[in-house]
Amino acid sequence: MHPIPLHAFNPGPITGAGNWTWLIPGHLPTLVDAGTGDPRHLDALAGALNGTPLAQVIVTHGHTDHATGAPAIAERWPDVRFLKMPWAERDVKWPLPWTPLADGQQVPVGDTSVTVIHTPGHAPDHLCFWHAETRTLFGGDIAVQGSTVWIPTSLQGDLTDYLASLERIIALSPACILPAHGAVIDDPQTLLHGYLTHRREREQQVLAALRDGDSEPDAIVEHIYRGLKERLIPMAKESVIAQLQKLEREGRARRDGEAWHIIDA
Ligand SMILES: [Zn+2]
Repeated sequence: MHPIPLHAFNPGPITGAGNWTWLIPGHLPTLVDAGTGDPRHLDALAGALNGTPLAQVIVTHGHTDHATGAPAIAERWPDVRFLKMPWAERDVKWPLPWTPLADGQQVPVGDTSVTVIHTPGHAPDHLCFWHAETRTLFGGDIAVQGSTVWIPTSLQGDLTDYLASLERIIALSPACILPAHGAVIDDPQTLLHGYLTHRREREQQVLAALRDGDSEPDAIVEHIYRGLKERLIPMAKESVIAQLQKLEREGRARRDGEAWHIIDA
């Protein structure tokens, strides 16, 4: 398996330098993630396919930078199949005959196959694709080298699920993660263990802020991320809310309108 990285040409405030999609060549040419339909992405894809028709697109999750390109790809290669885990209220944005994927399923790709691994947290429908022979993981947004992963609670992001997904990927012990953002991750265990440590530390900071009497997410953000740039505050707030919801689920915090309170054991 020799996946070819194809940039989606969609830099922006959320996507950073933009997305990577991965073409798995072979008798079943398969693209991992659809990009956003930028003509330069489609041209690069056509160039990499070198005249062979694209067979299918497997989508890691229904965030716009991963799925929006599907209709443009369908227009250019009308026989392509599109596969993802269903997320009903989201998938209607891209009215295509999506083939549903489920955890544990084997999907033939290129000249080999990958295993579908449901890894919710960043998004409820988030999937990774595992190639056991080479211990390679197509990671979607499970990990980004040099950064943490955004858990958008307003889009059904869930920190408890995300931490469980990280544990699941750590247990696979991948040799390499091919991500949707940033550089190839060639030391996944260090990065993934670092994420677990980071979230534990953040949780302690949120608990400390609650103990100090900061009860609203804005005040907790101010407490933890002192001097944060204005444009980054909304993401920091979502991240604090993700922590609070995890604490609530564990019976360690309770919500009273906009205010949050610690439940001391
Ligand atoms: Zn995403």
